[in-house]
Amino acid sequence: KAKAAGYGSYLVFDQTMREKAQYRLRLEGDLRTAIAQNEFALFYQPIVSLESGKLEGLEALVRWEHPERGMISPDDFIPVAEETGLISAIGEWCLNEACRQFAEWKQTFGDDAPGFMHVNVSRRQLLDPKLTHTVRQVIEKHEIPPKQLHLEVTESLIMEDQKTFIPILKELRKIGIKVDMDDFGTGHSSLSCLHEFPLDVLKIDRSFVVNAKHVRDYAALLQAILTLADNLELQVVAEGITDTEQLILLQALGCEYGQGYLFSEPRLATEIQTLFGAHIDWTNNPSEMQATSS
Ligand code: C2E
Ligand code: MG
Ligand code: MG
Ligand code: MG
Repeated sequence: KAKAAGYGSYLVFDQTMREKAQYRLRLEGDLRTAIAQNEFALFYQPIVSLESGKLEGLEALVRWEHPERGMISPDDFIPVAEETGLISAIGEWCLNEACRQFAEWKQTFGDDAPGFMHVNVSRRQLLDPKLTHTVRQVIEKHEIPPKQLHLEVTESLIMEDQKTFIPILKELRKIGIKVDMDDFGTGHSSLSCLHEFPLDVLKIDRSFVVNAKHVRDYAALLQAILTLADNLELQVVAEGITDTEQLILLQALGCEYGQGYLFSEPRLATEIQTLFGAHIDWTNNPSEMQATSS
């Protein structure tokens, strides 16, 4: 096929390759500046008790406010930061800033403050032999009880090299912090080996939540995951809840926690804190109220 396409296709290929390489190079340069200029911000998304509707915790999600290109999503720059090693500086900033903000909220809001903070960690951060030390230092500095900090690691990362990552996760849990398996259901681990992983929380990927309403198999899978999690004494967070139907289904299945646009998109600290301590009936959303009153 490549031969039939002729010489010209190689030129096109070359050009896109060069463009991609140039884009990458620019992004890498910009990332270095971004670290120096502190162009990062953390957004926070609520983790809600599905039974009580209470905001129980927050997940910190990094954003890059690029001076010319505007807000850049982590899916676009974390991979570059990983490859270049710049993730170490960014990751440490995120961990420290999330813990600093968490401590400040505890001071200001007391019992109404969220009970736990979740921070995502990537491959290179996990492989850094200093990670345990860094985490310990950060939580001590901000006087955060270890059990209130969750580190989120994706299922696909753990599955990539279980022999390497399982001991690292064990070390982290020895500090007393919690370890979450993120995007569960997308990383091809079998349910039967779940008990071998040193985990506290399963975060069920939003693809299950999206499909559960329409595809009966997904609802059955959700049920199976929840039963297993219960047996293994793992807590469960369902990701990506966007409507009340999904919420009601997950409540019926006995899922403990949820996260998603139904409750709130990730927002700036000053915006998210307006939800602290509020009692909200999430099944009673404005669009439904409109539907019944018209
Ligand atoms: P994640 O940890 O699985 O985070 C959930 C992602 O889903 C977030 O995207 C969030 O905004 C989005 N989301 C939440 N609720 C909904 C919903 O109801 N519908 C839909 N369609 N999406 C929803 P975001 O913030 O763009 O982050 C993407 C990924 O980037 C994260 O996935 C995480 O893997 C990574 N990431 C984010 N912040 C950090 C960080 O500080 N460090 C590292 N290493 N990775 C991070
Ligand atoms: Mg996450
Ligand atoms: Mg996730
Ligand atoms: Mg994800």
